[in-house]
Amino acid sequence: MQWEKYLRNDYETLPVYSSDDNEYRIKLDANERGEDLPEQVRRAVVESLSRLEFNRYPDMGIINLRRLIAESYGLTPGQVTVGSGSSELLAALCFMFGGPQKKIVYPQPSFSMYGVYTKIADSIPLPIALDDNFRLDPQQVIAAAADESVSLVILCNPNNPTGTAMPIADVERIVRNVSCPVVVDEAYGEFYGQSALPLLSEYPNMMLVKTFSKAYGLASARVGYLLAAEKLTVLIGKALMPYHVNALSLAAAEAVYTNRSAFTGPIAATIAERQRVSAQLSQQEIITVYPSATNFLLFKVGQTGSQQADDLYRFLAARGIGIRNFSNSTGLTGCLRVTIGTTEDNDGFIAAINEYCAESKG
Ligand code: PMP
Repeated sequence: MQWEKYLRNDYETLPVYSSDDNEYRIKLDANERGEDLPEQVRRAVVESLSRLEFNRYPDMGIINLRRLIAESYGLTPGQVTVGSGSSELLAALCFMFGGPQKKIVYPQPSFSMYGVYTKIADSIPLPIALDDNFRLDPQQVIAAAADESVSLVILCNPNNPTGTAMPIADVERIVRNVSCPVVVDEAYGEFYGQSALPLLSEYPNMMLVKTFSKAYGLASARVGYLLAAEKLTVLIGKALMPYHVNALSLAAAEAVYTNRSAFTGPIAATIAERQRVSAQLSQQEIITVYPSATNFLLFKVGQTGSQQADDLYRFLAARGIGIRNFSNSTGLTGCLRVTIGTTEDNDGFIAAINEYCAESKG
């Protein structure tokens, strides 16, 4: 019995999301917050969980969290969809707007799952290459989306894994000149400090996706949200399972969001640490660091090829330091990505880099 032949078209060619199961001493590979929740927020989360009715399904309408989020942006709860991570919402959008013969436009290199969700939704990927400085040309996106079969444009601002940010004026130019829906993934928006949010009221084809996994330190709970016009919000609900976000995660997210002012200082500290790590890395002749508006840095090792980057990646892993190796990905030859962690973890990372560079010189 050959069950493989019954698989959906091209299913076997989908990549497996690479998760690194090594137990690193210094974990700087997944763009998480380096420290656990601030103590007062942790207490609020535990308190919120202690009141939970574990025998009940979650609130079907997720009304408390949607209300909290809506109020903070001056929107209505009807404009907010909560998801199991922003990942669930991005996938749902591909289902909602994709399908056979439909094309989905997104930048490349960018978050690898855009291409995967596009294919799972049986749609055709239309990646737009970033330029040599990892910038996205708005005109290229507009030209690509002029094709009638393009049904969704995904922008990532700031972009992962390059760290580059697009001016909001460029986002607006795209949204204004494209007739299909445009979703702006602002997973790292808190570190950029600028948002396409003010465009939401003016452009009904625009949507924003945000997450609790990065600046708000709640990656464990898998909570994200989508801001969009009310009509669109009703429709996206059809692509989501009933009770798709569990009640524990919702309780935790409510406590975190209520206490979100506790993250303002840590976000600024992460940005300062990013500048410090960037300056330290730049001192090494073999390393080129790219500008970043996020909680991570992309850097290139050596002049050509991926060999030296692979070598440095293995050197760090052998010392219990985990970062992400993009060296063999399209458009990222020789590139590694490091998340900005605690000062102590960053120091450990820098010390190991300095050791490697001293050894490779000697
Ligand atoms: N968008 C981008 C750009 C990301 O980097 C990530 C996580 N790596 C996500 C979305 C998904 O995040 P989550 O599902 O945890 O909200």
